Amino acid sequence: MERTDVLKQLGFKKLGENDAERFVGTLFGYPTTVILPAIAQFKFVFTIAEEIPKNQLKELQKEFNDEPLLKNRVTLKTTDENVGKFNTLENNSINSGFVLFVELINPNTEQEVYDKFMEMLEQIISSEENIKPLDSCPYCQNGKGDMMVNVNNQLRFVHKTCLDDIQQSTIAGNEERSFNTGYIRGTLGAIAGAVIGGIPALLILYFANYFVWLLFALIPLAASIGWSLMKAKRGIVSIAIIIITTIIVSLAVDVTCNFLILREELSDILFSEVIRYFYMDSYIFGEYLMRDTLLSLVGAVIGIFISWSWVGKTDKGEEKILATVIDEAVPVE
Ligand SMILES: [Zn+2]
Repeated sequence: MERTDVLKQLGFKKLGENDAERFVGTLFGYPTTVILPAIAQFKFVFTIAEEIPKNQLKELQKEFNDEPLLKNRVTLKTTDENVGKFNTLENNSINSGFVLFVELINPNTEQEVYDKFMEMLEQIISSEENIKPLDSCPYCQNGKGDMMVNVNNQLRFVHKTCLDDIQQSTIAGNEERSFNTGYIRGTLGAIAGAVIGGIPALLILYFANYFVWLLFALIPLAASIGWSLMKAKRGIVSIAIIIITTIIVSLAVDVTCNFLILREELSDILFSEVIRYFYMDSYIFGEYLMRDTLLSLVGAVIGIFISWSWVGKTDKGEEKILATVIDEAVPVE
């Protein structure tokens, strides 16, 4: 039996016109996205209300491994590279659910493997106290809703009315910003955000003399949040300003660190003197500071790369994602 036939029998709906890889529906009462990544592979993503503790996951994994038919064929996880947070519908962070991710390899080879898998899955998932479907609408938290939408391969129950409200307010907000761009406001927000985001990287650099790339990612992330909080138009201008702000603040982290170190010896040294003596003098710069400055720049670039889903957000892009999500919404049956 073909995998797609199996899913159709379960009442699952295919997402997208040309996209044969994702199906959505409910399985054992759980909102479930099924991904078909390669030949003879099933990836079930169940949206659940609570995170499953690691030791419990291990025990469940063991139950599958102890079944001869399913040994080395089933993998249970709480995260997966195909599954992101349920957060692209609007700018505000909304309560993101948790997932139980179950992968089955080679289900097509034998029908009994597939049957056994489904039997065990249902038994396990319904007998565990804390593995419950997440059944509240993420926008109003008020009941289950009449539709299901898939965002980053996480399927959630939502109200049609809540979805319509979000689409209308998103479009209205974007329209307002297209007249009143707010670039100055946005830039100030980005700078304030970047400075706050740079504090952890500065502290680690100063106290531990260590560059932590992940902390540099906080700079563009916080700059993007700062820009968005100022409700300024997001597009090519916001992306450019956030990138420039990130680079400047990343370099400033390094300069500030050197200033703090020098101030321990020379208590009356000024910030401007540090810049003039050390960064403007090509000999001193080349001899002592080039490496750290380059590391800061690398930190900025890596940071922008890591937080690109925030930095690269545009009003148009968000409207498009929203339209696709709404387009792909399926009614709860
Ligand atoms: Zn709702």
